[in-house]
Amino acid sequence: MIKFLDIKKITDQHLSEIHSAAARVIDSGWYLLGEEVNSFEKKYAQFTGSEYCIGVANGLDALRIILRAYIEMGVMQEGDEIIVPANTYIASIIAISDNRLVPVLVEPDINTYQIDENRIESAITSKTKGIMIVHLYGQCAYTEKIGRICKQYNLKLIEDNAQAHGCKFKGKKTGSLGNAAGHSFYPGKNLGALGDGGAVTTDDKILADKVRSLANYGSTVKYVFDYQGYNSRLDEIQAAILGVKLNYLDEDTARRREVAHYYLNHIINKDVILPIINDWDAHVFHLFIIRSSRRDELQKHLTENGIQTIIHYPIPPHKQNAYKEWNHYSYPITEKIHEEVLSLPISQIITDDEVKRVVEVINSFN
Ligand SMILES: *Cc1c(COP(=O)(O)O)cnc(C)c1O
Repeated sequence: MIKFLDIKKITDQHLSEIHSAAARVIDSGWYLLGEEVNSFEKKYAQFTGSEYCIGVANGLDALRIILRAYIEMGVMQEGDEIIVPANTYIASIIAISDNRLVPVLVEPDINTYQIDENRIESAITSKTKGIMIVHLYGQCAYTEKIGRICKQYNLKLIEDNAQAHGCKFKGKKTGSLGNAAGHSFYPGKNLGALGDGGAVTTDDKILADKVRSLANYGSTVKYVFDYQGYNSRLDEIQAAILGVKLNYLDEDTARRREVAHYYLNHIINKDVILPIINDWDAHVFHLFIIRSSRRDELQKHLTENGIQTIIHYPIPPHKQNAYKEWNHYSYPITEKIHEEVLSLPISQIITDDEVKRVVEVINSFN
């Protein structure tokens, strides 16, 4: 069977380095808030081109704590609105509502699947304090127009960079394009730990200090608490492993692009819509998404031929029980995307033969 994502094989790529990184921490006797986290934070800040990086427990916390820090700074308050794409993974939205801020859902562009820059301004009210863009599927969501809107309306631009480590806009990395960014190192992400992990990047020193304090119970000086904070830490073992894996991220991304290139040039089926890639630098192919009005049949055809695919995501956030109050809303583009998308196997360890086989099976679907 061709797996959607073989995480064990990904770990095996650099197994001995990963083993020695973990062993180094185990043997050191120091497991939290130590040198490994410090050094990964420096390395990842440099990678993204940000001044500051703060390791946290996961991607949801990264976003949640950024917004909480803005509340503590007096930049935002309960009831303020944050614009967010309607077709994002639910974590982006939970990070907002968990802070008693109001997520305002905006439809994506059907061609890029990213928030539609032309629909943002009509969603702005006197309560809007920020825009959370999500570099969904590994593609850059930032546009110059979004940058201008943020300036004009004095909005904070927050990047959800959980799916796009290494992605670039005009040479500048995602994670450094807005005021602050949340990153996830969930094992299945492009830069994945062997467990949970996350980080915040920013150039704003005040924000960085607040985030670091909030992630550590609201404390900067031991046993002195300025805020009712969280316990949200990246642990030393994960940081050491991430330090190893970050060395190979650019190589991994290059391989993902090669696979995407092959899919784009070889999948030919009238029932399949391929992604549109304007800038290869602006896509790290966390996912390779195709669309089909016969999606469920196509997925069945692939499964029957030994190819595992996944739907990212089957139910849009506004149709979830978690947000019952939105269930009657209509976001037709978002709903269409959820009905039609299918994610093909893609990663740095998929073989040429496997990629060829996926193409053959898709092309034989009729
Ligand atoms: C994975 C993901 C998150 C959450 O990251 P976790 O580390 O799982 O908490 C947030 N936003 C998006 C778009 C994601 O894909």
